[in-house]
Amino acid sequence: MDCVFCKIIDGSIPTNKVYEDDMMLAFHDIEPAAPVHIVMIPKIHIESADALTEETSAYVAHIFSKVSEIAKSVGLENGYRVVNNCGPDGGQTVFHIHFHLLGGKTLGKMA
Ligand code: 5GP
Ligand code: ZN
Repeated sequence: MDCVFCKIIDGSIPTNKVYEDDMMLAFHDIEPAAPVHIVMIPKIHIESADALTEETSAYVAHIFSKVSEIAKSVGLENGYRVVNNCGPDGGQTVFHIHFHLLGGKTLGKMA
């Protein structure tokens, strides 16, 4: 499968990791949209939020259970934003579900 995030998980594409366990990986975005921009992904290939099931949503719950710890570890002590882009109209470009963790300044309003 030609998925850039699966390649990051298997190590064939190097990345700047900030957190990893058996269910998820978090790393710095290659093209940051904020002073701090982390991408959090599950270690299974789920195409998007639109493809989630009762079973696979456990990976999403796990990611959210680690958000606070990851945010603190990258200095986001004063708040942050978690974003999921879903599908072409949602601005998704990598079709392996992921959550952007953004912060490091006071962020503007949503689009
Ligand atoms: P999307 O646009 O799908 O919501 O987000 C995909 C994100 O993945 C983008 O912010 C993009 O910069 C990031 N990205 C794409 N390829 C790579 C990569 O090879 N390494 C890293 N660290 N980030 C990537
Ligand atoms: Zn994938």
